[in-house]
Amino acid sequence: GEAHFNLENPPSEVKELAETFEKMLLRLSQSWEHQRQLLSNVSHELRTPLTIICGYLESTLRRGPNLTEIQREALTTAASEADRTVQLLQDLLDLARADSGAMHFQLEKIDVHELITEVVAMTKQYSNHQIIFESNKSNLEIAVDKNRCKQVLLNLIDNAIKYSASEYPITIKSYLQDSLVIIEICDRGVGIPLQQQARIFERFHRLDEARNRAGGTGLGLSIVKTLVEGMGGKISVQSQLEKGSTFTLKFPGV
Ligand code: ADP
Repeated sequence: GEAHFNLENPPSEVKELAETFEKMLLRLSQSWEHQRQLLSNVSHELRTPLTIICGYLESTLRRGPNLTEIQREALTTAASEADRTVQLLQDLLDLARADSGAMHFQLEKIDVHELITEVVAMTKQYSNHQIIFESNKSNLEIAVDKNRCKQVLLNLIDNAIKYSASEYPITIKSYLQDSLVIIEICDRGVGIPLQQQARIFERFHRLDEARNRAGGTGLGLSIVKTLVEGMGGKISVQSQLEKGSTFTLKFPGV
């Protein structure tokens, strides 16, 4: 027969319904917690052996016997893939930690100019891409976890490098607006279609394969967002196809 809702006597049926929902919700959150725990454990277990593999590969490459060109190439590829997997596991651990509310931030007063200068210097170690830092006020301060904030900036700069041609410089700006400290990372790269702009902060979300030959996991920006919000900030993107993208961070000034 048809489902029939007894309007004469709603309280008991509504109560039953509410109880059923509550049970469902409990089961859902238990299974969510279970999955999160599993993810966290698996990532952790995999990370240790992989880190060891990385270490051996790299030391063999560095001071191994006379390797042939082919052997060297194979070891180099293995090392960089293992490296990438360690990074992926680290990202998964970070997300699992954030989900459980166990991500801890060591907030301290940081000079924005110093921080960005430091991060830009770090990128110089592996990329020749030109990065211009424009700052009109050198004593901007924010309360953030320094390492986490570096991670955020590096991630955004790495994306800017990855998704733009090397002849187009990346511009970083920092300034004060309505007592918020704004940091912009601006590239003149491939850009992001409008309908994708909100979704790129979702986990594992990546744009079509063709533009993604650079390789990646689609986790970077979801971690960036989690970290930024965990430190009381906000992140947004503005982008135009073939013109470039600007990622904007906003933190309360201190
Ligand atoms: P990935 O590991 O794929 O780079 P991210 O989470 O960092 O993962 O980014 C998600 C997707 O957003 C990327 O696959 C890419 O398509 C797009 N994207 C991120 N940054 C930029 C950028 N600066 N310019 C153009 N596209 C970008």
